[in-house]
Amino acid sequence: MTSDELRQLPAVERVLAAMRARDGGTSPLGATDAVRTVIAAAREAVKSGLAVPGAEELAEAALEELARAARPSLRPVINASGVLLQTNLGRAPLSAQAITAMAEVARGYSNLEYDLEAGERGSRHGHLRELIRRTTGAEDGLAVNNNAAALFLVLQHFARGKEVIVSRGQAVEIGGGVRIPDILAQSGARLVEVGTTNRTYLRDYEAAITPDAAAILWVHSSNFRIIGFTAEVPTAELAALAAARDILLVDDLGSGCLVDSAPYGIDHEPTVQESVRAGVDLSLFSGDKLLGGPQAGIIAGRAALVEQLRRAPLTRALRLDKLAIAALSATLLAYAQGREREEIPIWRMLAAPLEQVRSRAEHWAAAAGAAGSIVAAKTMVGGGSLPGEGVATWCAALALPGADEVAKEFRRGEPAIVPRVHDGRVLLDPRTVDAASDGAVARRIAAIAHSKHTVHPD
Ligand SMILES: *Cc1c(COP(=O)(O)O)cnc(C)c1O
Repeated sequence: MTSDELRQLPAVERVLAAMRARDGGTSPLGATDAVRTVIAAAREAVKSGLAVPGAEELAEAALEELARAARPSLRPVINASGVLLQTNLGRAPLSAQAITAMAEVARGYSNLEYDLEAGERGSRHGHLRELIRRTTGAEDGLAVNNNAAALFLVLQHFARGKEVIVSRGQAVEIGGGVRIPDILAQSGARLVEVGTTNRTYLRDYEAAITPDAAAILWVHSSNFRIIGFTAEVPTAELAALAAARDILLVDDLGSGCLVDSAPYGIDHEPTVQESVRAGVDLSLFSGDKLLGGPQAGIIAGRAALVEQLRRAPLTRALRLDKLAIAALSATLLAYAQGREREEIPIWRMLAAPLEQVRSRAEHWAAAAGAAGSIVAAKTMVGGGSLPGEGVATWCAALALPGADEVAKEFRRGEPAIVPRVHDGRVLLDPRTVDAASDGAVARRIAAIAHSKHTVHPD
């Protein structure tokens, strides 16, 4: 490198002129900044021995830089990771019906808080009430921003300054870094832990109920499992105890499934209906886990309690926006009409026949030529639900040098594709990918595989 070479770098004005020449005479907004960025990068490249680029080349890089800067930070990715509900990837994809419902409400005005019959103010909570009742069997229902908010609201309203009894095995950290003891503390309730990590009996709860007790909290912490010598009290027995001692039983279901998940090849996730039938006072669950809807926290339970929550000042701060209400309504309607298997993407993905998944994986693998093969694997549910075994699947496996670097190339492309790396190979699971994206994935696999000449010695 010589300072002569650095001086040969085209000046900002020359690169801008080259950009204008390409772009029909106009200089796009931010062009100067983009040019400065690419010239600075070129300077570093020249210092480390690369050739001095021409104005044309820098103009092209600056246009790319501009296009990159214009892209929204939040954008779609193709989830080929093999985890169905990835909090980092936005959890559940929405049904076509939910997306349509959101778009229709977004486009113009709506009766969000307007009673069209009476021509006067209505309640935004009214839109979901009946659907929550129908789908869960509870007397009444309310939805807020997410399940953490639902839990916080319930504890804050009913247990502030009082005691909440939780089994030691359930006072845990749940999905998304949410810690039950922290939420309790924030709400102003006092945590009373009972039993031991692996065993808690009815008598433990009984002994812990003092005049200061407001509730027993049950947490379905299914992102981990304590196995072996364990004991938990059935919720129906806790419900009877809570009723007899005049305190509440709150069930944080986490994922909150409305259908039996066993026929989909995964463990039976406790359903909301089971929770309600067991006599739980308030059952809480997420909208965007196994429900397959938008981010929301749903509270289903006794009418008098839900009515109090609807009126609570904090509910105003945690309320859903109109788009989430539209999407959640459409999602719940699919369950009410028994169409979840056809409409809701996560159930469709889980129900996809193994042979069909295998043939998609074979197509993807073929795009990689000699580096591609298929491997049997498991699609994990994720999202703090069903820790067990996962669902049988087939992945395309790419044996290319530098698996982590290859995975990064998948992520950096447009659209971004998120694979996973296992045993030095890049795996892509078709089960969590919409079949409409199969072509895009195959093309990317081909492009990346062909840019790496050497095949990994397996
Ligand atoms: C995921 C989860 C939550 C938090 O739900 P969000 O909807 O993400 O706020 C709370 N409790 C349990 C048991 C969970 O699994």
